[in-house]
Amino acid sequence: GRTGLTAARALIAGGAQVALWDEKAPAREAAAAEGLSVVDLKTADWSKFAALLLSPGVPLTHPAPHWTVLKAREAGVEIVGDIELFARTVNAAPEHKRPKVVAITGTNGKSTTTALIGHICNAAGKDARIGGNIGLGVLGLDDMHGGAIYVLEISSYQLDLTSSLKPDVAILLNVSPDHLDRHGDMDGYVAAKRRVLLNQGKGDTAVIGVDDPWCQRICTEITAANRRTICPISAGRAIGRGVYALQGVLYDGSGERVSEVCDLLRAKSLPGRHNWQNAAAAYAAVRALGVTLADAAEGLMTFPGLAHRMETVGLIDGVRFVNDSKATNADAARAAMSAYPGFFWIAGGVAKAGGVETLADLFARVHKAYLVGEAAPSFAATLEGHAATQMSGDLAGATAQAFADAGALAVCTGDEA
Ligand code: ADP
Repeated sequence: GRTGLTAARALIAGGAQVALWDEKAPAREAAAAEGLSVVDLKTADWSKFAALLLSPGVPLTHPAPHWTVLKAREAGVEIVGDIELFARTVNAAPEHKRPKVVAITGTNGKSTTTALIGHICNAAGKDARIGGNIGLGVLGLDDMHGGAIYVLEISSYQLDLTSSLKPDVAILLNVSPDHLDRHGDMDGYVAAKRRVLLNQGKGDTAVIGVDDPWCQRICTEITAANRRTICPISAGRAIGRGVYALQGVLYDGSGERVSEVCDLLRAKSLPGRHNWQNAAAAYAAVRALGVTLADAAEGLMTFPGLAHRMETVGLIDGVRFVNDSKATNADAARAAMSAYPGFFWIAGGVAKAGGVETLADLFARVHKAYLVGEAAPSFAATLEGHAATQMSGDLAGATAQAFADAGALAVCTGDEA
């Protein structure tokens, strides 16, 4: 896949010999067409390999280690991810060439926060590169220099494959149950997320969202360890020595006095309370990188937003179409559902553990749900007695049906639905 090809090109440029493998034939063909060496790892001589670079999509531990992982262990071959190679390169760079590294993780809001930090830094005249789990793989980003800032979105899978990452600014936004199939249980998932803070020391900054119990606990624990600078952030309550939003107004209480940063209700591309958390984290990060309060506030206002995240994609006959298809777990869906008093809901796909049960308090806002994919029957069962549902088959059908129903409502009320 993408990570593998990007890593292979970078490794070859660095003088390594690379053997690639993918279980899917089209991926192997794409690699071969580029002149890369495709080797069947089932029959290869593993004693010749220095390392196995695993793509983050391939299971390291759960539900079961992939067969390449077992082969590597058997042959005593080290297993790493692309972030690990990047981290070792940064750590080995002489001081004047060492770039700054910002690592962003959490269950939800990673891409938005990553893009937001990159936007604010670049608008303030810095040389920020955005990548990792968003856009380009980390090894495909431009060469490093002393003034560069790498702003990296890092998933829990990638964190499991790195041990040397030492971010100048590490952000842990939030944690809620997700990807438990790949981490075994909640403890495994939280432990992976926590790895972003692993190697930080004096001079580094940790930005931690304290609006959920898991991150709250981590924040308390690392505060006791007392080495790095810690900046707690919240989207709902005032916190001492932290950055927080109250009714949409962003405050910086990290210094001696509390300063008002800006009114996020005026930031066009950061709608909803969940985005206040992303904005608070991005603000704390860029301040640690030397951006002024005024430049940070300006950058929050001019952020253009990302596609597929509460993105208004059309307004037809009084009906607003919102694409929030990046909401792939209940907590992410909650963010968008909380932002609208009423809506026609297209949902489905493959259900995560617990499905949509935890969203019950928001079902009264659902005029009707149009269900698609494998999860349709279980979502319908959860919604029963709370909202009307319809099995829509596919997304195109669901959109047409929802548009017709929303249009009728818009005509009745004379409002935008
Ligand atoms: P990620 O990269 O972590 O998947 P994104 O920034 O792509 O996160 O946002 C994905 C979806 O998650 C958004 O469409 C939104 O509904 C929801 N979301 C974004 N930020 C947050 C947050 N801080 N807390 C909860 N949900 C969020």
